[in-house]
Amino acid sequence: MQAAQYGEFLSFNHVKKTFDQKSLVVRDFNLEVGRGEFVTLLGPSGSGKTTVLMMLAGFENVTSGSITLQGKPITGIAPYKRNIGMVFQNYALFPHMTVAQNLAYPLTVRKLPKSEIAQRVEHYLKLIELQGFGDRHPAQLSGGQRQRVALARALIFEPELVLMDEPLGALDKKLREQMQFEITRLHKQLGFTVVYVTHDQAEALTMSSRIAVFNQGMVQQYDTPDQLYEQPANAFVASFIGENN
Ligand code: ADP
Repeated sequence: MQAAQYGEFLSFNHVKKTFDQKSLVVRDFNLEVGRGEFVTLLGPSGSGKTTVLMMLAGFENVTSGSITLQGKPITGIAPYKRNIGMVFQNYALFPHMTVAQNLAYPLTVRKLPKSEIAQRVEHYLKLIELQGFGDRHPAQLSGGQRQRVALARALIFEPELVLMDEPLGALDKKLREQMQFEITRLHKQLGFTVVYVTHDQAEALTMSSRIAVFNQGMVQQYDTPDQLYEQPANAFVASFIGENN
């Protein structure tokens, strides 16, 4: 699958990031993501994956280089105006709010009419198969159910781009596999673009249209799962993709 098949959507151009003005955490990051793609940054812990997402979300500045979304540079645009959905491993739901209130929150801050909010909350509860759970509090849900609510909360304002940083890291293997399936299903159904971060190569290979294997702040290879598996560009990619963890 080539980006041309999707149309250009997101592009990183020579992005660099340093926190202490000495060492570059992100050394020279270039990536093209097509509209509707599911692109995964796969790499070991500490390789700079989260830093890339933070720059894309607007929570960290880019030291140099640029990021463009739909052809426009996003430098200087406040995070909430980027209209990007986010799911993190420990992205806590608001504990004092019910599930329905958690889901309504992104729509309330965007000042949608009350009737539309109620409709969408019902619709998304159905999408994540938690109809009838709207009045519960997060503490009354299982880990997997909570993560499904977090996923719905990231999608409910219908962002075109959704960032996910190790969203399944806290779940056990069985639940993780179920959630991989859920995320893939919602991605296919709703058509948003995903930038996903994980250190788990099996997860990346299952879910992604393309994978950027990342190490020490640089993309080592950017390819489809099949190509990465069959034609690793270097020894790092070969050993990382081949690991069974
Ligand atoms: P990954 O997501 O691949 O585990 P990170 O992007 O979290 O990697 O971190 C990459 C490197 O950047 C690490 O060495 C980390 O300590 C450093 N780093 C991340 N955020 C900050 C920060 N706010 N200040 C200083 N160093 C940071």
